Amino acid sequence: MNSSQPSSHNQSKLVDESRSYALTTRISKIASWGKRNSLWPMPYGTACCGIEIMSVMGPRYDLARFGAEVVRFSPRQADLLIVAGTITEKMAPIILRIYQQMLEPKFVIAMGACASSGGFYRAYHVLQGVDKIIPVDVYVPGCPPTPEAVLDGLMVVQKMIKDDTKRPWKDHWEPGVWK
Ligand code: SF4
Repeated sequence: MNSSQPSSHNQSKLVDESRSYALTTRISKIASWGKRNSLWPMPYGTACCGIEIMSVMGPRYDLARFGAEVVRFSPRQADLLIVAGTITEKMAPIILRIYQQMLEPKFVIAMGACASSGGFYRAYHVLQGVDKIIPVDVYVPGCPPTPEAVLDGLMVVQKMIKDDTKRPWKDHWEPGVWK
């Protein structure tokens, strides 16, 4: 082979470098990618689960890996409500107001037995699940749930956004109607 001619390796490198690439997608896919990787959670911690959720935010489990580390304590800046703890009937109007003030599209995670069903508080003053007052998208079981379970709940929300899942429980929800 003439030494002035490029070798086959160099030839394929030249072809690779001259190749142009194109990425095609839909604007809805890009928007959904952005939405699901930039959830801004608002933790509504009232009891032990409120402490447990701190470990999800901490360095070991690191919620930031899922793009949801920008915790907000103003509902007007949040689109993911994480209800962590027992909700009494006295708190119900407050949590309803918080939910109504949140940005659309908004999601709710009921973290733990108390937020999901009242837990072991079968008492007149405890709401038997926060879904009695606001629509819940994901229920995370446990007393308290493990950090992994909470992360799993968050990933379910992300999947709902990705798949544009229909949410009849939210669509048919009416504020002020107690179940
Ligand atoms: S589910 Fe268990 S850990 Fe969570 S708030 Fe209720 S009692 Fe506490």
